[in-house]
Amino acid sequence: MDSSQLTFNDHTQQIPYGCQSIDNHDIAEVYSVLQSNWLTTGPKILEFENAIAEFVDTKYAIAVSSGTAALHCAIYAANIGFNDEVIIPSMTFAATANCVLFQGGKPVFVDVSPETLLINPQKLEENITDRTKAIIAVDYAGHPCDYDRLRKITDIYGLVLISDACHALGAKYKGENVGSIADMTVFSFHPVKHITTGEGGMITTTNIEYAERMRRFRNHGIDVSFRERSKNATWVYDITDLGYNYRITEIQCALGLSQLKKLPDFLNQRRKIAKMYDNAFLEFEHLEPLSVHDDIYHAYHLYVVKLDKKINRHSLFVKLNKRGIGVNVHYIPLHLHSYYKKKFKLHKGLCPIAEQSYEQILSLPIFPKMNEFHVQRIIDDVHDCLLDSNQD
Ligand SMILES: *Cc1c(COP(=O)(O)O)cnc(C)c1O
Repeated sequence: MDSSQLTFNDHTQQIPYGCQSIDNHDIAEVYSVLQSNWLTTGPKILEFENAIAEFVDTKYAIAVSSGTAALHCAIYAANIGFNDEVIIPSMTFAATANCVLFQGGKPVFVDVSPETLLINPQKLEENITDRTKAIIAVDYAGHPCDYDRLRKITDIYGLVLISDACHALGAKYKGENVGSIADMTVFSFHPVKHITTGEGGMITTTNIEYAERMRRFRNHGIDVSFRERSKNATWVYDITDLGYNYRITEIQCALGLSQLKKLPDFLNQRRKIAKMYDNAFLEFEHLEPLSVHDDIYHAYHLYVVKLDKKINRHSLFVKLNKRGIGVNVHYIPLHLHSYYKKKFKLHKGLCPIAEQSYEQILSLPIFPKMNEFHVQRIIDDVHDCLLDSNQD
């Protein structure tokens, strides 16, 4: 069976908030790598890297084992070390902060703008100190940050601009591709993201020094890869840095290459679903989608709505789940999690917009395999449950 034909038509079947699309071509490509001589450190990795670099229109792309590993590589390449500060939005996934901590740095959590949940440039600037070395902008939900504004700030203070674009493969800011704007841009190929390799990640950059540092970092800090050594018939290599095994496999890259061919279709499908939601919700009370700036091309990793304060989010969440709608919440602001709270003595009130928004947001299912019947079913269920939850 072609697994792309899997449907969620049956009302007993849960529609998740995100899901991969795998077809027979993907499977054939993976199958053929399994029959080849290279399962890792082979030709597919470079092929996948070149294809992503070409897609986002940049010079270098470095493939690694996850988006988290990609963030760690970027922090390492930017030379973030002990007590260096890196500014990040609080409304993000744990990995955005953790990659800084892995290198002994300190993530500084700042608030977001209420209408997009993107990092608030003014709050960012207020939090810059002598120890600030970089910022990680998160293209939340697939909406690119205001990169002109961010670049102005990083230029003034001499900071490295890293983009966590794990939500934003295929997005554009003022006509430019996400992946070609920041000093380094990070993507994830987790199954809920735009294309998948099972687990996987990529960093794109135009800076050759960053690229070389990251290539060593993903391979134990070794200066010449095994593939190059076998090509040149030598065993000699040097360990120049402390690195990790963050390599991605040939199997994953074959899948990634096959998935990338379908990315334009996947993006169209995501945008079609978002449009259906947008149109339907114009008529709804108590619920509003996040804002979209008109100079961007949204990649819609997530479709996030904000509920008004009359609606009990918890009860709406439970009701929709009971009807098989796998709604989710992205994210609990990072500064409210015990680990960061304890470590940095943080408390509620640090990022009031993120905290308030967190109480009101809901992510609705959006992924390319959904058809218009699924979307309509979700719209109808949200409509019914909203009426219900208004009385709770
Ligand atoms: C998915 C994601 C990551 C991490 O990616 P993995 O591939 O799961 O390690 C990092 N940041 C954001 C914002 C993400 O959504």
